[in-house]
Amino acid sequence: MNYNSTTDKNIVVSAAQAISQGISSDGGLFVPVEIPKYSNEDFQAMLKMDYKGRAKKVIGDYLTDFTVEEVADCVDNAYTVEKFGAENPAPIVSAKLNGNTMNILELWHGPTSAFKDMALQILPYFLTKSLAKKYKGKEAVILVATSGDTGKAALEGFKDVDGTRIIVFYPQNGVSPMQKCQMTTQEGNNVDVCAIEGNFDDAQTGVKKIFTTTEIIEKLQANDKLFSSANSINWGRLLPQIVYYISAYCDLVNNGTIKFGDEVNVVVPTGNFGNILASYYAMLMGLPVKKFICASNSNNVLTDFINTGVYDKGRQFYTTISPSMDILVSSNLERLLYILSDGDDKKVKAYMTALKTEGKYTVDSDIMDKLSARFFGGFCNEESTQKTIKELYEQSNYLADTHTAVAVDVYAQYVEKTGDKETPVILASTASPYKFSKSVLGSIIPENEICESEFDMVDQMNKVTGVEVPKPLAQLKNKGVRFNNVTAVDDMPAYVLKTLGID
Ligand SMILES: *Cc1c(COP(=O)(O)O)cnc(C)c1O
Repeated sequence: MNYNSTTDKNIVVSAAQAISQGISSDGGLFVPVEIPKYSNEDFQAMLKMDYKGRAKKVIGDYLTDFTVEEVADCVDNAYTVEKFGAENPAPIVSAKLNGNTMNILELWHGPTSAFKDMALQILPYFLTKSLAKKYKGKEAVILVATSGDTGKAALEGFKDVDGTRIIVFYPQNGVSPMQKCQMTTQEGNNVDVCAIEGNFDDAQTGVKKIFTTTEIIEKLQANDKLFSSANSINWGRLLPQIVYYISAYCDLVNNGTIKFGDEVNVVVPTGNFGNILASYYAMLMGLPVKKFICASNSNNVLTDFINTGVYDKGRQFYTTISPSMDILVSSNLERLLYILSDGDDKKVKAYMTALKTEGKYTVDSDIMDKLSARFFGGFCNEESTQKTIKELYEQSNYLADTHTAVAVDVYAQYVEKTGDKETPVILASTASPYKFSKSVLGSIIPENEICESEFDMVDQMNKVTGVEVPKPLAQLKNKGVRFNNVTAVDDMPAYVLKTLGID
């Protein structure tokens, strides 16, 4: 299976190269030339497998330049009981809100308590194997722009991995205190963390720019290094996310919640459009998904896009209590446009150019029709997010984090608007509530009763709710800060070269 760029189909590379590079040399994103299709028999066979078995099947069908043993090695090392707490790294919990039942797919049982672990625990294995095939002896420099969760998950995944260095940039005032603490205390000899004076979009644009600056690339080359990306622009990030939608469907069939062949709806709290796009790929492979419900916070650029066909990033940026979704430029939408335009690279290029130069683009009616047929977009403000956390906790004794709550609220809007209550729903839960203790606790008890310090809040929430604190979060309390660098956006390239010792 080969991969081509969303903005230039003449660029065709192997999976190993797509993963090593992260982004195409023309600035486009790598997409599979062909999408594997599963028959009923394929799905029936997967019903009998465990998570790892399903992962090996799906990943193997996309990484065709990897041997069966190589794929197995990646999967077996990534999804261990030690790292994810159970044989199934992505369990489903049923909860009810105002009469609507939801199958909540908990994707945050990994080492950093966010769904990013599902991909970032396996990406380093993909990458080191890809480098060995394509760029033997080179050191990969992973640059990460994070809205909070990717940074920590990437640091944990890549720490002390031979042949890699990782530098993470996060918005100085745009992450939760727990997220910041997770990153600044990071251990490992190949890691670096730096705050930037700007928001996530600034960080992402800054990183993208470094990736495509010729002088910097040449400097790395001269020093036997090359850039790679752990952001969801890397195909190696997206691929493992396809697995859990297929696996969740199998689990729901096996536990009798749905019958084989039944359609489901998928609800995803969305930022960079990676997670929801993975579910779309699962559908293209044959998973019977009816609607993709795209949930945004007050940064509702995707809601407007789905409803009008106009993507317009020229708007107020809000710093919200669901910071991992505080994004105005959703990178992976580019891949959806490629799919919906039947692989029209010129069209995708024109949209992306318009986004860069004019800050917006409008899709044609053909794409708009396909978009409306499958996607429902909605958003949820801060007040409704906290109200949803409270109601869900009171009605179902289920404690959702702020991002998951946005999805729950938008799902309720979907049911209200469409009357579609019958289609069973898989709702992606993307983080542990303990990553956002202040906002979650503030939803269920009066603001003035909340403890001062972050770790006292964690203990308090545990006492109030009885919900277990993820061990790695509890352990942070005793760790010292290693990184307190701050840089201006314009100085990011210099920061990178200096950190690598090649300035
Ligand atoms: C990253 C993240 C999201 C957004 O996921 P995308 O794939 O960027 O759409 C949602 N919730 C949490 C907790 C996250 O960390």
